[in-house]
Amino acid sequence: MPTPEDLAPLVPAMTAWRQDLHRHPELGFEERRTAAFVAETLRGFGIEVAEGIARTGVVGTVRGRPGNRAIALRADMDALAMTEATGLAYASATPGRMHACGHDGHTAMLLGAAHWLARHRDRFAGTVHLVFQPAEESLGGARVMVEEGLLDRFPVDAIYGLHNLPGLLLGTIAVPKGPVLASSDTWEVSFRGAGTHGAKPHLGTDAALAAAQFVTALQAIASREVDPLGTAVVSVGHIAAGDAAAPNVIPAQVFLKGTARALDEAVRSHVETRIAEIAHAVAALHRLQAEPRYIRRLSPTVNHATQAAMMVRAAQACAGPAMTRDDHPPITAGEDFSEFLARIPGAYAWLGTGDPAHPEGWHHNPHFDFNDAALAHGAAFWCSLVETELA
Ligand SMILES: [Zn+2]
Ligand SMILES: [Zn+2]
Repeated sequence: MPTPEDLAPLVPAMTAWRQDLHRHPELGFEERRTAAFVAETLRGFGIEVAEGIARTGVVGTVRGRPGNRAIALRADMDALAMTEATGLAYASATPGRMHACGHDGHTAMLLGAAHWLARHRDRFAGTVHLVFQPAEESLGGARVMVEEGLLDRFPVDAIYGLHNLPGLLLGTIAVPKGPVLASSDTWEVSFRGAGTHGAKPHLGTDAALAAAQFVTALQAIASREVDPLGTAVVSVGHIAAGDAAAPNVIPAQVFLKGTARALDEAVRSHVETRIAEIAHAVAALHRLQAEPRYIRRLSPTVNHATQAAMMVRAAQACAGPAMTRDDHPPITAGEDFSEFLARIPGAYAWLGTGDPAHPEGWHHNPHFDFNDAALAHGAAFWCSLVETELA
């Protein structure tokens, strides 16, 4: 199986690609420069390329020895609407745009794997589709790729995803059993009362008091209603009411918005139902109206057992048993890779980038920078996965 040492000759090229992508971050569905670079690089390796799937998505196809089976390897390409504060020589050249989740590294690693696979077609039987996905960060690029026929045009037996993970020892491959990442939904509630003079509360109905009780009552969902060994998160992210210039006015309306997370569909549905019930109950208590709204965005990302086991086997062959974990706990962030796993078998793993020589903090912070020392590990793991599954 290919090891990180085998991929070492490609590290200078992967590092250059990664740092160039880092310098030119693009938001979801706007990855035009990135997609053109990916397509041109793949063609340079002699790989068939399809462009324009979900606007900026790219699929490269590598055929090995004759074989009926096919798998997909997915990398995301988009950046975040943040301003970088790393001060690096290759820091973002665009204010308000930043690769703060390491998708520049994911793209570079899959290109590195593409280079290897294109030159070692005799080492696997069947077809590998390299899926460069746009808009993972909150815009749902995976769903758009599926809606535009990705899985029909490029039928596969399984799809795999890989994401960098700070804090996990560099080079570790960690494959969760079952749930990997949570559902990620948005909820909104408006409380509508009768505004009144702040000195005469009895002449109106107080939406601010209702909202305050609602925020407190919400926390009973996770702490009192969901199994303590299960997982639910309900967070309030935004509260808007009244006018700072009018503190002596009780506002007629309070608007709240937040996020809800769960690791399985039953808990997710419970949270959805209870946010609405609690909103209506609190509104009734205070003689006013509630208008709750729940927007389902991302389903939980849950690994399929056979494909997770395949990733573990590939990791043991590539990284070695000591650097392979098959017990990584789930994380309450969300991922639109769940769109693929809802339709076809697949699995998702973490690539450790934790390294005292490269303190990067957690994803989505302005000092984040993908650890280039992980490039060979990720690319080698992809190649090993291909050789394991398409033996
Ligand atoms: Zn992210
Ligand atoms: Zn990410």
